[in-house]
Amino acid sequence: MAKVKLEIVTAEKLIYSEDVDMVVAPGVDGYLGILPHHTPLMTMLNPGELRIKNGGEEIEMAITGGFMEVRPDKVVVLADAAERAEEIDIARAEAAKKRAEERLAGKVPEGDLLRAQASLMRALMRLKVAEKRRRRGKL
Ligand code: ATP
Repeated sequence: MAKVKLEIVTAEKLIYSEDVDMVVAPGVDGYLGILPHHTPLMTMLNPGELRIKNGGEEIEMAITGGFMEVRPDKVVVLADAAERAEEIDIARAEAAKKRAEERLAGKVPEGDLLRAQASLMRALMRLKVAEKRRRRGKL
């Protein structure tokens, strides 16, 4: 069966590099399923879940937004941050959520408000991805 090369990269490191069957990514206009030989495209990504299907295996990752370039034989995801569902530190995400909520509840300048909102979105998305995996009984 045809495969597509997937690379997930952050500013710090190469997170993932494999030939895979399918990628489902959180595009800004909705989730995008990418199979081998897909039409070329470029899109920004929202914070959300990125799923990789390979053979019988399925990998879930939380990504905090970024950019995706699709070519027929290769998909490159430049992510702000990416963690596999099983690597998500739930206590850390809960603490980040609490901090952001406290900041949003107080009187803060507009720039800080946007930062707090973005931080809250990242924390909620990480918790959602980790919880989904836990419910599937994989922990
Ligand atoms: P925090 O306030 O806890 O640092 P954040 O949303 O500001 O959260 P990011 O800037 O998105 O964190 O990420 C910084 C680094 O920490 C990245 O490498 C990211 O993968 C990692 N990271 C952040 N939160 C978690 C988490 N809950 N579990 C695992 N890794 C995390």
